[in-house]
Amino acid sequence: MNVNLAEFKLLGIDVKVHWSFVLVLAFGAFLYGAGPAGWLVGGLYGALTIALLFVCVTMHEYGHALAARRFGIGTRSILLLPIGGVANLERIPEKPAQEIIIVAAGPLVNLALAILLLPLALALGDGQRIFSLNAMAANIQNPGVFNLIVFLISTNILLALFNLLPAFPLDGGRLLRAALAYAMPYRRATQTAVAVGRMLAVLMAVFGIFTGAIGLLLIAFFVYIGGSAELEAVSSRAVLRNFRAGDALTHNAVNLYTSERLERATQLIMSSYQTDYPVRDLAGNFVGVLTRPRLIHALREQGPEARIVDVMQPAADVPRSSPQDDLATVWEMMSQSGSRVVAVAEQGQVLGIITSDDISEVFQVMGAMLERRPSPASFGGEDRERGTYV
Ligand SMILES: [Zn+2]
Repeated sequence: MNVNLAEFKLLGIDVKVHWSFVLVLAFGAFLYGAGPAGWLVGGLYGALTIALLFVCVTMHEYGHALAARRFGIGTRSILLLPIGGVANLERIPEKPAQEIIIVAAGPLVNLALAILLLPLALALGDGQRIFSLNAMAANIQNPGVFNLIVFLISTNILLALFNLLPAFPLDGGRLLRAALAYAMPYRRATQTAVAVGRMLAVLMAVFGIFTGAIGLLLIAFFVYIGGSAELEAVSSRAVLRNFRAGDALTHNAVNLYTSERLERATQLIMSSYQTDYPVRDLAGNFVGVLTRPRLIHALREQGPEARIVDVMQPAADVPRSSPQDDLATVWEMMSQSGSRVVAVAEQGQVLGIITSDDISEVFQVMGAMLERRPSPASFGGEDRERGTYV
């Protein structure tokens, strides 16, 4: 089932609008339709107001995405949900200065929108009414360009302020983490920011229950869960930082040769735990990798007689790391290239390969040693290094 109401691409980024967005538009129409303008005009005006509000939310997410692009970090998608937007960045920048810029760009977009709309509001109406909450509340249901602009100015200011609450993973919490990271290790900075975020989430939830603000309850839930997920990702990365690619190579790994057929690989799989095989030509040069998924696919399609060279992942498509790189860097290469193997090379000579299975094994063993429950599920997926910016 497609859960998206709409999907489009803008400035090279996929924007997905969740189906439940219809409910928010309907809610807006209902709220305004009950006002003095009547069901038809008021309802349409309400739906328009909410739609414009979410245009501002989308622009906030583009603020994060375009700032990240400056540091070479791509954005997989921007998702619009009833409680707000989420920009799925390919990874979380580890340099605090970069994270500060990416995070600040979101609320700055909303502040800029508010400042840009202000002269328009001043030209159209009474300046006193712009800054009076009472006047705004009294006129919010009255359709009109002036009222609409005043609404957008105040909601953009609110959006910026709300996102700056230090409730990790909200923008303010990310800024707190980045600031803390100057004074302590990244993992501890994340732990502290997550703890502060959880406290605020509980306060938000209590406030939401007493005032009946369901949106606030949902956000509190999101803050609580989202903080834990990212803490886990940061911890995994901290573990992987302790290992060099050169040390993770299997020394007695079996190679396959270009002259061989799949049959040979199936024999090897029966007799060893190795799942992916470097392929070399007769001179010993590295020419590719026969990965397990490719082996299985080719066996099904072509049978054991197929030649290994025809089905392997060619060397050009296998990312290369140096033996001195740490495993967190190797893992990043895997998630960025979509390859489950990385070749470890020194001076043009491929020493061996590291697979995503090898890395999750390191993590499981280390996880057990640290007396944490290992979670291969969070590790094997492509989601691991992704940063969700709200
Ligand atoms: Zn944001």
